[in-house]
Formats: sequence, C-alpha cells, structure tokens
Amino acid sequence: MYDEIEQRIRDVKDFPTKGIVFKDITPALGDGKTFAEIINLFYERFKNVKIDKVAVVEARGFLLGAPLAHKLGCGLVLLRKPGKLPYESYKESYDLEYGSAMLEMHVDAVKKGEWVLLIDDVIATGGTMEAACKLVQKAGGEIVASAFLIELTFCKGRDILEKYAPVETFIKY
Ligand code: AMP
Repeated sequence: MYDEIEQRIRDVKDFPTKGIVFKDITPALGDGKTFAEIINLFYERFKNVKIDKVAVVEARGFLLGAPLAHKLGCGLVLLRKPGKLPYESYKESYDLEYGSAMLEMHVDAVKKGEWVLLIDDVIATGGTMEAACKLVQKAGGEIVASAFLIELTFCKGRDILEKYAPVETFIKY
C-alpha cells in the first residue's frame, strides 16, 4: 500500500548494537516526493481531528512532526533528551529496545486541557512514547493519539500505548 515509502526504508543490521535491525528512514526523507508523501499520510489521518499541539520525540520524531504541525497549523512541543532544554522541565525515564534513557519537556510547553498529538518515526517496545505520554499528562494535557510511520509489531509496544490513547501506524513489520 505504501510501496514507494517502504522501498526507501533501509534495514541496517546490528545498529546501534548487535541483534537490532535498525529501520533507517534517511533514504525516504532524502527523496522529496517520498518525504511529502509521508507527511501527507499523517496529515490526511489527522486533518479533521481537534489538535492544539504536536509533540515530537527527539530526534527523528522532529523530522516528521515539525512539518506536520506546520501543515496542521498547530503548535510544536519538543520532547528532548536530558540536558538539552534550557528552561524548567518535567522528566521521565524509560527503557529502550537497546538500553535506557530519559525524555524532558518544558513545564509550560503544554497547557492544562490542550489536545496533543504525539509523533515519532518508529514504535518498538513503546517505552519512549510511554514516557512522552506521561510528560504530556504531567502538564495536564489530553492525548489525541500517538502516531508513527513504522510499527515493529513483534515488539508489542502498541499494547502499552493503547492504555493512553489510540495508536496510529502506517507501515508494519
Ligand atoms: P521504543 O521505546 O522501544 O518503542 O523505541 C522507539 C524509539 O527508538 C524511537 O525513537 C525510534 O526512533 C527508536 N528505535 C527503536 N528501535 C528502532 C529500530 N529497530 N529502528 C529504528 N529506530 C528504532
């Protein structure tokens, strides 16, 4: 269904650690038509939904979520790795498919009652996006959905995230 996009997603074995097959989206982003097609997939899915802000997960989530927020006319919220945000921030730690990590969000990035759409490139275990959901909830935000270009279904991350809000993915492996 999304052949042109799928053809430009490259499998890189044993990156960043042995046993991981990394889904490299840079060839898809590097082709203008494919990049536009990807952003359009998200746009068509969410254009008629009430969304105040699009929250994007560092780093590849930024690449998809920022153009989407612009196209939707929504504000952008950065969910960043530790120590990158300059102002007072909420913090959430989580487990990754490879290691553990933390996400941070400015305390004033989301206001109470705002509807927030969460975006990242890949869902694996769901740990990263669960931390993102918790950050938005800490600020009093409502989660519209979490949406990803790629779902690694065998990692079952969807089971965790559906406790927070609907999960939307376009390409499944
Ligand atoms: P997880 O928290 O396990 O759902 O992992 C999702 C986060 O790690 C996303 O930010 C992805 O960009 C990245 N990630 C995890 N596994 C992969 C993979 N196999 N290929 C590309 N990115 C991945």
